[in-house]
Amino acid sequence: MKKITLSPELTREVEAIYQAMQEEYDKIAGKIELTCTGCPDNCCDSYFFHHTYSEWAYLWQGLEQLDKDTLEQVMTQAKEYIALCAEPLAQGKQPQVMCPLNSEGRCVLYQHRMLICRTHGIPATLKVHTGDTIRFPGCFRCQEIVNEKYAAANDAPFMERSRFLKQLADVESRLFARKRHLYPKVKRTIAEMIVQGPPSVALPYCERER
Ligand code: SF4
Ligand code: SF4
Repeated sequence: MKKITLSPELTREVEAIYQAMQEEYDKIAGKIELTCTGCPDNCCDSYFFHHTYSEWAYLWQGLEQLDKDTLEQVMTQAKEYIALCAEPLAQGKQPQVMCPLNSEGRCVLYQHRMLICRTHGIPATLKVHTGDTIRFPGCFRCQEIVNEKYAAANDAPFMERSRFLKQLADVESRLFARKRHLYPKVKRTIAEMIVQGPPSVALPYCERER
């Protein structure tokens, strides 16, 4: 198995994408006047999959900087998370379990949190491979504000997610020297990425030294 790590250059690119998303999020949320302060909900119990080795490797860069006790605590919580999700998943239901990186309402790896954590809340659009555009209305609190403030939901400012995903896909492609298609797809929760350790892959036959 080959451990997948981001070079300093790709690390900087992931950070730049995350930073640009953060700035876009702040701009849109500011215009809508959406803030998480005082919200009765905590979106960190939403069930999401993540799909890139790049984000998985970047997450582990953050985990490796945690002190031993905090990392052990996160690891324990990640195992509990997976166990707690098993029952709803077996029943075909969407689990609602607090993310193992959430401690008392705060993200312990805020700088390394995933792309999806950085877009959740505000209205957004995404162009899919068919050419269609999917529109996300934002969280319940955002929708309440939008309904009050704008004549139609589509009048509200929104984040165009596709360009960030495209940039991340390019990082992912270069992480595998433009041979990403030779490696398995990723579809894991944060908890699974934590419990499984830093990403590693079996080299495809054509990439092995003979
Ligand atoms: S994103 Fe929306 S629902 Fe989630 S905590 Fe913030 S305001 Fe509340
Ligand atoms: S990584 Fe952080 S921001 Fe994302 S769901 Fe987990 S605790 Fe929340």
